[in-house]
Amino acid sequence: MPTEAQAIDKTLRETFGYTRLRAGQGEVIASVLQHRDTLAVMPTGAGKSLCYQIPALHLPGTTVVVSPLLSLMRDQVEKLAQAGVSAIEVNSTLNAREAKAALKGIAAGKFEVVFTTPERLSDPAFLKTLQETHIDLFVIDEAHCISHWGHDFRPAFLEIAHALKSLGDLPVLALTATATSAVIDDIGKQLERKLAVINTGIFRANLQFRVVHATNDNEKLAHVLRLAKVLDGSGIVYTATIRNAEAVYEALRDAGESVGLYHGRLRAKERTTSQDDFMAGRCRIMVATNAFGLGIDKPDIRFVVHYQIPGTLEAYYQESGRAGRDGERARSILLYDTRDKRVQQFFLGGRYPDADDVVQAYETLLKVQSESGPATWQQLQDETAGMAGNKLKVALKLLKDAGYARQDRTLRYRLTDTGVDTQTLSKLADEYGRKTEADRQKLERMIFYAQTAFCRWKVLLEYFEEAEDFVRCGTCDNCLRPPALKLERVKSTRPRWARRLAASAPLFNAGDHVRVPRYGEGRVESSSSEQVEIVFPDGRKRQFLSAYVERA
Ligand SMILES: [Zn+2]
Repeated sequence: MPTEAQAIDKTLRETFGYTRLRAGQGEVIASVLQHRDTLAVMPTGAGKSLCYQIPALHLPGTTVVVSPLLSLMRDQVEKLAQAGVSAIEVNSTLNAREAKAALKGIAAGKFEVVFTTPERLSDPAFLKTLQETHIDLFVIDEAHCISHWGHDFRPAFLEIAHALKSLGDLPVLALTATATSAVIDDIGKQLERKLAVINTGIFRANLQFRVVHATNDNEKLAHVLRLAKVLDGSGIVYTATIRNAEAVYEALRDAGESVGLYHGRLRAKERTTSQDDFMAGRCRIMVATNAFGLGIDKPDIRFVVHYQIPGTLEAYYQESGRAGRDGERARSILLYDTRDKRVQQFFLGGRYPDADDVVQAYETLLKVQSESGPATWQQLQDETAGMAGNKLKVALKLLKDAGYARQDRTLRYRLTDTGVDTQTLSKLADEYGRKTEADRQKLERMIFYAQTAFCRWKVLLEYFEEAEDFVRCGTCDNCLRPPALKLERVKSTRPRWARRLAASAPLFNAGDHVRVPRYGEGRVESSSSEQVEIVFPDGRKRQFLSAYVERA
């Protein structure tokens, strides 16, 4: 009989085609196979999925994987199918007939791995099927989303804990790329499990960090255009708002770059097309809000540019870390304007439910319950039309945690105490006041990173409490150019790249015939050493950086 280690080796080679496990993977797999509740903190690209795929094949029953991202599921199901492993996704992309067939297959034990979304776990029929199936591992991907202290808290993740409880005493594997110790503690608390934490560290020597200062949007756009020109390979430009994403996208498109756009307000089909084009290399640069990327599995992203600061260093690291997953050199560049802080401060307001929201949730539940018995989520949402769904979910969770409400096996809500006074209810929201304060401090750390003269990696590692013996990376802008030198550069009237561009750019005169990418030929109306205004045959005038203009 082969030992367990030999059996795992065999699966690794024959099913997945790898010769050995990477750092941390073996530990995680061993912990899971010993039925320990485990939290694996592994950097993007460290091979998180193998940590559940291998146990899934070595355990007799079905493994359930909860993930917030549909594209990731589709990807994983296909990959597993290629490896000869039966897997299925149960989510909103299935129609009623497909969903029914899926549940039937799951109940019959046909699948090794079932992928699903946190939202789906609140579907009673699905939950019932899972309750009746032999499941022996419950995996939560992007587990930081369950924590209020995380940078990417998603109320739908609160459903996971409830579903998990209703499935009995299943071993849990939680996976995340980044988590501070507060988030690690909170994941355990939210799941009501004592987790064995396996943290493989966040440092990746191939990631090179840099911050470029700018004082207005025009400067930033010029930086983005220049970076797109000088950086090879594919990359992502992240913006904090949809409006900025559109502006940056248009600027790059007009400069003739191969560019795609991705944000939450595009239609699902447009988003899918955009993502597929980027993944397949048909489009080189993706301009996106943070709606893009969770679970993006493209190994050869060479650069990630942030057009604005995100709200936390966790978000910054996670987004930057999508570059260079193949281990080759990759760059993470932050364009920083001190005024960007305001955008993030705006997002901080109104993120959590306040006292009024909690009171409203309570009173609504009381009303529905007295009229028609325990309330469904849909009923409550309809009755609190003015309140964002996210806030309602959190408010209901607060009521449950305080012991004033309960959710039954069909996931209906019921008050267990109908006489709670407004003042007591208001206090439940207090914790969220403290969370808002914590969020503010996180934003301050992000700003510190942008303004620091210290090694950027050192600042990141300190934030994640991993800096112990780390001195400097030797590759970030601050390591390469000591700040004293940089001050001189700031004093010069134009940045070096602009001077270089100006020196190399041809000079144009009014009336010259010229050509630009995408727009074709036109006539120069006016020009400076950096910019050229061109009239096109349709009579419209457009401006271009002179570096993009050539004589026709
Ligand atoms: Zn450094």
